[in-house]
Amino acid sequence: MTTKRILIWYRNDLRLHDHQPLTQALKDGASIIPFYCFDDRQFGQTSFGFPKTGGFRAQFLLESVADFQHSYRSLGSELIIRRGLTEEIIPQLVEPLGITDVYYHQEVTPEEIAVSTALEAALKAVNVNCRSFWGHTLHLLQDLPFTLPNVPELFTNFRKEVERKAPTPTCLPAPTSLPPLSVNIDPGTLPTIEDLRVTAPQPDSRRVLAYRGGETAGIDRLNEYIWERDRLRVYKETRNGMLGADYSSKFSAWLALGCLSPRYIYQQVKKYEDERIENDSTYWLIFELLWRDYFRFICAKHGNNMFKRSGLQGVNLNWKQDWVRFDLWREGKTGYPLVDANMREIAATGYMSNRGRQNVASFLTKNLGIDWRMGAEWFESLLIDYDVCSNWGNWNYTAGVGNDARVFRVFNITKQSLDYDREGNYVKHWLPELAQVPAAKVHEPWKLSPAEQESFGVRIGVDYPQPVVDLFKSARTNELIYNMAFNVSGGARERPVPNRRSK
Ligand SMILES: Cc1cc2nc3c(=O)[nH]c(=O)nc-3n(C[C@H](O)[C@H](O)[C@H](O)COP(=O)(O)OP(=O)(O)OC[C@H]3O[C@@H](n4cnc5c(N)ncnc54)[C@H](O)[C@@H]3O)c2cc1C
Repeated sequence: MTTKRILIWYRNDLRLHDHQPLTQALKDGASIIPFYCFDDRQFGQTSFGFPKTGGFRAQFLLESVADFQHSYRSLGSELIIRRGLTEEIIPQLVEPLGITDVYYHQEVTPEEIAVSTALEAALKAVNVNCRSFWGHTLHLLQDLPFTLPNVPELFTNFRKEVERKAPTPTCLPAPTSLPPLSVNIDPGTLPTIEDLRVTAPQPDSRRVLAYRGGETAGIDRLNEYIWERDRLRVYKETRNGMLGADYSSKFSAWLALGCLSPRYIYQQVKKYEDERIENDSTYWLIFELLWRDYFRFICAKHGNNMFKRSGLQGVNLNWKQDWVRFDLWREGKTGYPLVDANMREIAATGYMSNRGRQNVASFLTKNLGIDWRMGAEWFESLLIDYDVCSNWGNWNYTAGVGNDARVFRVFNITKQSLDYDREGNYVKHWLPELAQVPAAKVHEPWKLSPAEQESFGVRIGVDYPQPVVDLFKSARTNELIYNMAFNVSGGARERPVPNRRSK
């Protein structure tokens, strides 16, 4: 006889495949209550006043929950949907539904941990057991060849150790049927985007992909990218592109919400290697998933330091909060076409390539000297694939306050433009005012003579801005500031402040 009644609390793990809390609950022979809460805090504001979840991600989330609800229904069960504060709502369900246990996937960052800690405390008071599982990464915490406090600080060391010593990741199958919901409860309704107080995004025909949220769409995208279009075989050569659906996998949004498991991707890559080809590209997709793992483990290791102004290194840099220049950056009006095109892309679609992200983050921090957390929060607001660890980890890294901190690594925007957009197709795609400028001149429009401006139909300083700073002078100035700060603080870490994202 079933004695346990287990509520499965879903957060960023909206999938049936490779889901250990679900698999374990089914193993425990329990009656299962699947539960998702649209947590009010996710729809508030960031500390710099941006919407915490912008329209693109809110839309993707709603589609993902709708797909998940449909999947549960088609297997004979039902997803319970609520809005509010998770740690208040779940305890209210305990008595009427006879819940004995709550299973969930563990998160690693302060805001997310605060919710699970509050929930666990509330449930303990009513004698409900909680069990959390590690599940967001390719390699599970318990399979690492080191403990969390000993996670290597440098990516290469992390990767080599994991590649050498961690067991091969395995992927749990999705259930083919589920016990019916054995309790009498109103399943609740899916909110609308307006209910979440989020402005609905406008589809933009220039986007790289028509994203659709959910496990079904995530698996469809994987099949399309790996199997139908056969793009995995050239991933390493194309991954630095910026234009089109298939230069990279575009798996990130589904990974971030857990609609795709990284272990499922791994399994598919291995199958592809068996059936089609094993080459540098097939390796490289796994390599990139290791970056994702690395940032999650580093976040878990360092807690709140990741979100502090001084970053993982505890380096006290005099970052500016210059809103005039920040606005030029976020509106795509810096006068540097590569930066502007990328910033317009993210604003119009919620997505930006990895190459673009690195360049715009470098420009904000190393050329404009602006507080990197403003950039990180702007990304948090807009990105369709926002993942707290990948975003804040990459921003730490690019700003020079993360594990790359002793090197003032600055991207030469003009060189990057020529290396990755030699024909100017990407910048022209997003900056129609430069459409007639020839490729050889489009990345440095400030050099156009008055006659050229006339003949290419653009007035610099009127239709397209003059550069907001000189690329090289600004980098030199910020490098000096950076080196001084680093010498003074000696790279010493600040003491961690637990459970709070502080400015
Ligand atoms: C400043 C900055 C902020 C970023 N913010 C995020 C974020 O919020 N969410 C996010 O998923 N990625 C983030 N990235 C990493 C990377 O840009 C995206 O994962 C990638 O562009 C997504 O496109 P894709 O799925 O086509 O990537 P692909 O090139 O196809 O890579 C496959 C997968 O590997 C992982 N991956 C690739 N590069 C990285 C990386 N540098 N760090 C961590 N994981 C990586 C992603 O899960 C990605 O889906 C950020 C990078 C920078 C420089």
